[in-house]
This record gives sequence, C-alpha cells and structure tokens, in this order.
Amino acid sequence: MGETTGRTIAVIGAGIVGTVCATYLQRDGHTVILFDHNGPGEMTSFGNTGGISPASVVPIAMPGMLKDAPKWLLDPSGPLYVKWSYLPRAMPWLAQFILAGSRKRIGAISAALASLNMPTFDAYAPLLKSAGLQHLFHQTGQLFVYRSEAAFEKDRLGIVLKQATGARIDVLGADDIRQMEPALDRGFVKAHYIESHGHCKNPGELVKGLAAQFAQDGGTIVKERVRSIEIANGEARAVIGDGGRHAVDGVVICAGIWSKPLVRQLGFDVPLETHRGYHVTLPEPGTMPNRMILSVDDKIALTPMEMGLRIAGTVEIAGLDAPPNYARAEKLLDLGRRIFPGLQTKGYTQWMGHRPCTPDSLPVLGPSPRHRNVVFAFGHGHQGLLGASKTGQVTAEILSGRRPSINLAPFSIERFA
Ligand SMILES: Cc1cc2nc3c(=O)[nH]c(=O)nc-3n(C[C@H](O)[C@H](O)[C@H](O)COP(=O)(O)OP(=O)(O)OC[C@H]3O[C@@H](n4cnc5c(N)ncnc54)[C@H](O)[C@@H]3O)c2cc1C
Repeated sequence: MGETTGRTIAVIGAGIVGTVCATYLQRDGHTVILFDHNGPGEMTSFGNTGGISPASVVPIAMPGMLKDAPKWLLDPSGPLYVKWSYLPRAMPWLAQFILAGSRKRIGAISAALASLNMPTFDAYAPLLKSAGLQHLFHQTGQLFVYRSEAAFEKDRLGIVLKQATGARIDVLGADDIRQMEPALDRGFVKAHYIESHGHCKNPGELVKGLAAQFAQDGGTIVKERVRSIEIANGEARAVIGDGGRHAVDGVVICAGIWSKPLVRQLGFDVPLETHRGYHVTLPEPGTMPNRMILSVDDKIALTPMEMGLRIAGTVEIAGLDAPPNYARAEKLLDLGRRIFPGLQTKGYTQWMGHRPCTPDSLPVLGPSPRHRNVVFAFGHGHQGLLGASKTGQVTAEILSGRRPSINLAPFSIERFA
C-alpha cells in the first residue's frame, strides 16, 4: 500500500467491477468507500460462467446477424429471445446493436476489446495474491466445440478476430476433441482450443474474497443504495445514500445495469440494456470437463466449478422488471444432457442475472466529460469478469492523475451523444 493521498473516493456498486476498482484505488493510497445495498458480488457477478478469455474480442453484434432476427422473436427458448411485449422499448437499442455489427465497425470494436481484455490475468494477479485467492483461477484453456463443419465456417470471422490478438488457436478434429474431453457427445466434429484462456471456479466468492481483503486493508463497505450524487461547480462533492450524505473527493459509477439512472442524473443518456442470462449449477454432475467448454451451436458454456458443473448462457431481452422465465434454465439442462450424455442433474440450482450491455459491446470507461472527478466504469456486458481487472487499473490511473494505460476514446460515454 502506498502513502495516503488524503482523498476520499466513493465507488458505487460492489460487483466484480466496483470491487476491483475499489481495491486498485486503495492501492494508490486513496480512502475508499464502497457502496452497495446488497452484499459484494451478490448480483450479476455472483452467477456468471466464470470465463476469463483474454482473446475473446468478438463483439456480440456481428455481420449477417440480421437474417437471424425473426428467430429472436419466435422462439422463447432460443439462444437470443426478445419478449414481444418488451419489443417497443427495446427497439432503439436493437437498432444501434444491429448497426454496431456492421463489417466496418467490428474491427475497431474488437481492437478496443483486446486492449481491455488481453491484460486480464496480469491485472488480476496482484489482487489475487494479496487476498490469497489464486486457487480460484485456472488457466487450463477453453475448448469451443462445433457439431458441423458448416457451424465452424460460420464462426470463422470470430476466430480470425481472436487470432489477430496474437493468441495461439489450435483447430481440432473429432479425435482430438475426444482425447481432450472423453465424456463429450460424439456429435462434435470440430473445435478450436485457446490454451491461454481460463476460468474462475467461484465468481461470487472471488468478489467476496476481494471485498474482504479490501475491508481488512482499511477500506469501508457501506450497505446503502446511492440515490444521487451531489454536484457543485462541475465536481462531485458527496454521494447521497439511504443513510444520508457522505462527503467525497471523487466518485466511480460501477453499478452494472443499474448505472443508467445514476448517469442520467448527471445528464447522460446511455443505451444500456439487460441481456438476461441464466445458469444451472449441478452439484454432482457425474462427469466433469477438464476445462471450460463452449458449445458454439448452442451458445452456452459449461464450466467446472467448486460448486459443481455450471451451465450458463442465453440472452433474453425482456427488461429489468419482468420475472425470470426459468423455462430457459430448464432448456440449459436439456442442452447440457446433449453435450454430456449421462449428465446427472439431481439437486441443481438455477439463477438469472442481468448483463449490462451497450449496443457496441464496449463498456463505458473513462472520466465524465462534464465533471472533474467522476469516472464511469460500467456496461461490461457479457465480459465483466474478464474486463474488470484492467478497468480497475485504468480507473485508479485516472483518479490518481496518471496517464491511462489504454486508449479510452472507444469507451467514452460521448460516443452515444
Ligand atoms: C449467465 C451469465 C454468464 C456470464 N458469463 C460470463 C463469463 O463467463 N465471463 C465474463 O467475463 N462475464 C460473464 N458474464 C457477465 C458478467 O457477469 C458481468 O459483466 C459482470 O458481472 C458485471 O459486473 P458489474 O460489477 O458491472 O455488475 P454487478 O455484478 O451487477 O454489480 C453491480 C452492483 O451495483 C449495485 N448497485 C446497483 N445500484 C446501486 C446503487 N444505486 N447504489 C449502490 N449500489 C448499487 C448492485 O447491488 C450490484 O451489487 C455473464 C453474465 C451472465 C448473466
């Protein structure tokens, strides 16, 4: 820990992004207050698939996607589903999403994702070490499997984008797949394998463990919902929480999907939509893959975790308020049984979470253009566990007056102006 700066920074939201930001700010010597009305890591960061995939620089919106659009509306159990009644509200976001998937934009988006995602393991390393959490990270590679040559070919542009990061990618046939993962269904004929990828064995415990270390090192966790940010002369002076006013010298907004109303109060309208995702966790699956498996055709991932086998994925666009549709979680079980025949599902748990998604797959990261001491760090979409560590470093660089170590232009909130 360095010398103290005498400045107090409020971090709003104790998901993986906020907790890592708080820790990096603390390491720079700031007095940090981490606000969350829930406990650390209890929302989206609790139930993700745990994938840490530095070369996963493929935007969610990709060329050719439009021809799949009718399916989005017709199949409630499909990998991407838009609830009919929510469609009018989702339309402006969907329009921007489709535009972001144009061939001329994906190269720049992918390069920006690479700048944030590629350093992920290095940026997590000092935090894991100091909190004694290294056992939660496994860099044992990820296997992306396909049921046909045609499915592999359809994914080729994505593989090319991943290769552009310099990551080693091995293309495998049926025999190689069988050797690596003998319990996988025989229907998988092609795969690509990325050795440098990995996964976290317990995403919820990761956040809790980092938050516990933050508190042990003198950080304060305040269990309050932040209602507003008090601004005077273009700078944040205090955050107003359920329990009252807290004077601060800087604010980081990292409340995931719930960041939208907070930044709206500051005068920014950000297109942030929830991609609702589901998981099932099987405590005694009877079979366990050696590494994280991604079934590209099904758009789901299966991760060996401390709690059992977690099967997760799917995108449901239905807003924040609709109750979960657990038929989608049941569908994950069906798909899991097809991927690993003989899978035991007894005692499984299910969950739904809100991925905070911008239309262009990039988070909002950087200083507020209108406030001297406010930083935005939200909207990490499908990759918040992956992107959190570099986000935390960059946030600390900004608020400590150092030059940011990545180009922040693609992440600016002003791209939505
Ligand atoms: C099914 C599924 C699978 C996924 N798989 C992966 C994966 O394999 N790899 C990966 O990198 N990412 C994955 N993700 C995405 C990842 O989980 C998210 O990007 C990440 O958790 C977002 O973290 P966050 O800290 O921004 O948000 P959250 O974890 O949602 O945290 C936001 C916090 O802010 C708090 N908050 C909200 N409003 C306020 C307020 N006004 N005042 C105070 N606190 C507030 C909330 O209580 C919450 O704790 C997956 C997501 C889902 C749903």
